[in-house]
Amino acid sequence: MNINDLVRYWGKNRPDHAAIIFGDDVQGWAELDAVSDALARGLAARGVRKGDRVGVLMRNRPELAHVILATLKLGAISVPLNFRLLASELAPLLQDADPRVVVTEGELAHLLEPGHKALGFEIFAADSSDLPGYNLLMTESGTAPITEVDEDDGAFICYTSGTTGVQKGALLTHRSVLAPGQAQMITHGISWRDRVLLAAPLVYTGSVISIFMQLVVYPGATMVLPGDFDAERCLDALERHQVTATTTVPVVWERMAALPGFGRRRLADFKFAGAGGAPVNPDLLKAYQARGIPVTQVYGLTEASGLASTMRYEDALTRPGFAGLPLVGTAIRIADSEGKTVPAGEVGEILVRGSHTMHGYWNRPQETAETLVDGWLRTGDLGLQDDGGFLKVVDRRKDMVISGGLNIYPAEIEKVLSSVEGVVDLAVIGVADDRWGEVPMIVFHTDQDPSVVAGRLASTARASLARYKQPKHAVALAQPLPRTFSGKLAKPVLRKQFTRTPS
Ligand code: AMP
Ligand code: MG
Repeated sequence: MNINDLVRYWGKNRPDHAAIIFGDDVQGWAELDAVSDALARGLAARGVRKGDRVGVLMRNRPELAHVILATLKLGAISVPLNFRLLASELAPLLQDADPRVVVTEGELAHLLEPGHKALGFEIFAADSSDLPGYNLLMTESGTAPITEVDEDDGAFICYTSGTTGVQKGALLTHRSVLAPGQAQMITHGISWRDRVLLAAPLVYTGSVISIFMQLVVYPGATMVLPGDFDAERCLDALERHQVTATTTVPVVWERMAALPGFGRRRLADFKFAGAGGAPVNPDLLKAYQARGIPVTQVYGLTEASGLASTMRYEDALTRPGFAGLPLVGTAIRIADSEGKTVPAGEVGEILVRGSHTMHGYWNRPQETAETLVDGWLRTGDLGLQDDGGFLKVVDRRKDMVISGGLNIYPAEIEKVLSSVEGVVDLAVIGVADDRWGEVPMIVFHTDQDPSVVAGRLASTARASLARYKQPKHAVALAQPLPRTFSGKLAKPVLRKQFTRTPS
């Protein structure tokens, strides 16, 4: 069974059941199936074949879901692109994925220009703009596209940064994408009756894979899709649509809880309310649980099709700080630096094995071989398992900052800023922040006027980094930065010295 079989199944067997609610617009499963068929015919007419890549660069709107499903129906690979990136940051991704077509919106099309000049893919827009339209892509009549798609064929390339600061595309197959969906249904009893809120841009892995594919397409449920999202809209949507399942980053849960009148909202009983993608404060979960809202911690990563462990509410109450059991069908073990499993309760690297791990990094055999070892996915995260196998995420081994749920790799920022005039030594670390959980901060050493150099750093960051990656603070040290024995930056020392944002 692949993703396309499921879309057809729900289209045929629950044709009028709502698949997507977007504002006042409700689309049933039969409509979703038919529209994605029409688009698939159109994409095929544009030369899209099995194995080709089709990019999507859109804010939340139903057309985004349609294009993704149409791409999959052709056996082609969907490449969700983050619209928060700058054109210069998107260019290497486009170069790597080499799509045949990218579907976007008029307002975002400028982000594709550098890549388009170099690669010449076709661009269509889902809204009315100067670009060729989405309607042009739809081929209404004709038979359903009949591409044979195997479970092990590629479905998505999801970009995720590595510690080196280079974006790598995790190739996820139909099988790997669907596996956590089945596990979630078994563990949490998710079914076609559930209404699932998408509380983030759909182009994020945590949305398109962990929600749209796993909680909506697999069980034939209903996706509540807000447009531009914020905490207030999410809370409104939870109440208005009586949402019963969702998963999102801890900041979104935190912000909803902080809204005035939160306690008076009449929410439905949740079957599953996940918080993950970043460290989860046990007090946050307790506050929700005290109101009868069963928010529990989950753990996952792009390379595992979004999810590796999930927590049942009954289990959560006695295990604060834990991120659940391995998904049904998944094995997790904690390994020392030689790859040997450590005893229960001891900290080591979290390794994951199951049918949901990625096929590999697109175009990167070496990084793939370093990450998938003897059938195990090396996550680069540190954790422990208790006697019962419950997982606790302790730290990240990889040098990463998570700000508002978005991963930021200091190496990428350091690469951009180290050559700024006057910088002798520079590092980027994450510091605690009330609003975003963590924000990147620069620590640097200069032999010039520190405030002048700080100004240059800020303007370089603005010109070459997406806004969420731009450091929010810069601190000048009078001496060079601390280094390890081997001469590498001693980040743990810096992190200990600067734990919070300077006031
Ligand atoms: P991404 O590939 O964007 O989904 O990011 C995955 C990373 O987010 C993981 O490798 C972890 O470092 C982090 N992460 C995910 N879930 C948790 C969690 N429950 N607690 C702490 N960190 C998490
Ligand atoms: Mg993340």
